[in-house]
Amino acid sequence: MNSLPKILVLGAGGFIGVNLTERLLADGKYAVTALDLDGEKLRDQIGHDRLDFRQEDIRHRDESLETLVSDHDIIVDLVAMANPSLYLSHPLEVFHLNFQENLRIVEYCVKHRRRLVQFSTCEVYGRTVAGVLGKDPAEMPFPFQEDTSPLIMGPVKNHRWIYACAKQLLERVLHAYGLEDALDYTIIRPFNFIGPRIDYLPSEKAGNPRVFSHFMNALLYGTPMQLVDGGRSYRAYTHIDDAVDCIVRILDNPGGVCQREIFNIGTPENETTIQQFAEMMREIFDEEFRQAGDPNPEVVSVSSEEFYGKGYEDCDRRIPDVTKARELLGWESKHDLRSVIFQTMKYFVDRHRAGQEAE
Ligand code: UDP
Repeated sequence: MNSLPKILVLGAGGFIGVNLTERLLADGKYAVTALDLDGEKLRDQIGHDRLDFRQEDIRHRDESLETLVSDHDIIVDLVAMANPSLYLSHPLEVFHLNFQENLRIVEYCVKHRRRLVQFSTCEVYGRTVAGVLGKDPAEMPFPFQEDTSPLIMGPVKNHRWIYACAKQLLERVLHAYGLEDALDYTIIRPFNFIGPRIDYLPSEKAGNPRVFSHFMNALLYGTPMQLVDGGRSYRAYTHIDDAVDCIVRILDNPGGVCQREIFNIGTPENETTIQQFAEMMREIFDEEFRQAGDPNPEVVSVSSEEFYGKGYEDCDRRIPDVTKARELLGWESKHDLRSVIFQTMKYFVDRHRAGQEAE
């Protein structure tokens, strides 16, 4: 074990971190240190002989984080507040964590000359040209390419963009450290990863999770399926297993091809409007999971201000161009949209039915 390269996964207790840590332990190519505020989702991995789990908050000001960085070969930074409702309700905390705290990690990597794999977001692309010109994005497909696409944000008063701007600035700082200090980094821009263990259902835990959990809640608890501004926006969903497969290839970094590169990870073929997504979720639920007594939720359109409060503006269309991951890493997504929805739904339905039986 001592001879294995050492990976430090910061933010390992979140949805991506748990799935990545599980895969790294299964592959056995690395010794893994996993750090998070919350170890709940990692409970099945804690105790594994190649895992050192630290329950810590990276915001604590002591030397332990710097020591950990210096003691590992690769640092994977997943620490983020990455949920749109938080960009609206806690914009400063979002900026503080997603930029300032992450910057400390970057600086430790510069100082100790460590390789940094930084999670960013597809939100850095912002809106499409069509959306900004008030045209229908359906008529102007515009795949986002890592090194050529412009990054277009809305006005400052729409503070939803604070997350995207924080991440974008962090990317720009990494690029500058690459130029001036030869920092060895790779940036990952995830496009809507979903799968088992994402988020929570709002009827079971307070909060405002992402869209899949809201629609799932409707199907299991009968709350309305709310289409924000009619559900016209597009998203392209990627199964977490496909995403992790690409992340692992980036960590392995064959021939150094990922050095100072940005990678989109996404599945353009799985593009859907949110309205179609709601319909598809209902169809799959009816065909595969519906039982007597399950509710029949109504579908309603709500304004974004009603749903999120003031300051929201949507990314109208996000098509990932994944040519780079395909060509440099030989990566392809394997799950189509139906399979992504089915597997994520199965996770929630199984938990719900187990809860019903226990009552
Ligand atoms: N949305 C919706 N109903 C909901 C929750 C979200 O129509 O109950 C919309 C939201 O406005 C956005 C899309 O679904 O257009 C995806 O939102 P999500 O919160 O999943 O995260 P995002 O992809 O924006 O990061």
